[in-house]
Amino acid sequence: EIEATKPHVAVVSVPLMGHIIPLLEFSKRLVVDHDFHVSFLVITTKEASAAQDQLLQSPTFPPGLDVVYLPPIDVFSVTTDDMLMLTRLCVMVEESLKSLKSVLKELGELRAVVIDKFFTQAFDVCCELSIPAYLFYTSALVMLTFSLSLPTLDCEVEGEFVDLAEPLKVPGCPPFPIEDLFDPLKNRKIDEYKWLLFHCSRFHLAAGIFVNSWKELESVTYKAITEDPFFKQIPTPPVLPVGPLIKEEPPLTARDIEYLAWLDKQPSDSVLFVALGSGGTLTADQLTELAWGVELSHQRFIFVVRKPTNSSASAAVFTAGSDVDNPMTYLPEGFLERTQERGLVVPSWAPQVAVLKHPSTGGFLSHCGWNSTLETIINGVPLIAWPLFAEQRMNATILAEQVGIAVKPVVKPGESLVGREEVERVVRLVIEGEKGRDMRRKTGELKESAAKALEIGGSSHDALERMAKEWNAESNV
Ligand code: UDP
Repeated sequence: EIEATKPHVAVVSVPLMGHIIPLLEFSKRLVVDHDFHVSFLVITTKEASAAQDQLLQSPTFPPGLDVVYLPPIDVFSVTTDDMLMLTRLCVMVEESLKSLKSVLKELGELRAVVIDKFFTQAFDVCCELSIPAYLFYTSALVMLTFSLSLPTLDCEVEGEFVDLAEPLKVPGCPPFPIEDLFDPLKNRKIDEYKWLLFHCSRFHLAAGIFVNSWKELESVTYKAITEDPFFKQIPTPPVLPVGPLIKEEPPLTARDIEYLAWLDKQPSDSVLFVALGSGGTLTADQLTELAWGVELSHQRFIFVVRKPTNSSASAAVFTAGSDVDNPMTYLPEGFLERTQERGLVVPSWAPQVAVLKHPSTGGFLSHCGWNSTLETIINGVPLIAWPLFAEQRMNATILAEQVGIAVKPVVKPGESLVGREEVERVVRLVIEGEKGRDMRRKTGELKESAAKALEIGGSSHDALERMAKEWNAESNV
């Protein structure tokens, strides 16, 4: 009833944990801080994701935030097994377009619709319905900058990007080393590339672009994207950094509580947390090397283990948290017995935010997904960068070389795996070395800067407040 009188906004996510998490937090901010009614539209499939279900059925949602499920997509009829991750996602999402218009119409008067970066077809629907449409960009500002320039690069660069001798240059971004380019850019003939280009070339249709970052973290890039003539020409909609928006940990399970109780007994900054995002997977050989390296380092650890696979590094993205097989079968023989005094092995999914927040956690071996990156920064924990797919290699390079809060393990020339000695070296470096202390100091500074951005008067808080006021003013037409 009360909701009916509040200004109403719809937020549309794609079915990936790394996207649902920040979009939900964004929705909560609108509801709690700015008194909006938000309908959170989720694209659903019949593929099970325990982690997604847990998140979307959280009993802690504030009143005024409604989760609306779009009719489930029959994944089997629209996708084929040989589709790569991004193509699979984009094809599924496009199916949801069929129901989007009627669902939006049923919601009644909407002040705005905020849309995920992989669902830009929704801009056309909003245009038909005369509702202002905004984009929510779930990765770093530097990646948004790169994405906005992709259509230009696509016109200007002949042949494959991977054949270029020089790093790709974009105003406001550090040069992107060719080996860091994300997978869809490695072959311009494949569907993944075409989908990426399709969405990036529609970003300019947004009335504004929210980004899960903050001005002070990426000040050089922010200046470029808002002032450089290159971006004015595209033209680039207003860019609004509103982050870091970090998930609230959903209610802890009995097992989660045990993990935290174990952490309570460890010395401060002594534990390495190993987790590769919601869907990251390793090959069996790489998992073996990683486990040996962690063991040889003699450091304390919490190790999230998933079933290894040789098929793809993103094998678990659509089924996050559902693989609860016994992880011990994937680890070197005797690993558990030899390390039980100082480590915990966790199958599939851990309460990451709670672990990172715990004072005993002193390092994070991460795939450098953007949510994980923000979560580690606001908890002052340095990284071992272990990028796997999407834009993670670029994030890893920036975090190691520019921000100075990550170390990157080195792969020996001619080898395809990170060996156990190298794992041992970087783990020691971060947990007990001088380098770890330096990085912890740096993350500590960033943590303060993030907190400031989110306070009243801070850059991210004010950016959202301005937008909320604008949407409010559009009322009573
Ligand atoms: N996450 C978690 N437990 C795990 C693995 C991941 O809670 O065991 C959460 C993590 O806290 C983060 C999200 O899943 O919020 C992963 O998002 P990110 O952008 O880092 O990576 P992606 O999943 O998109 O690859």
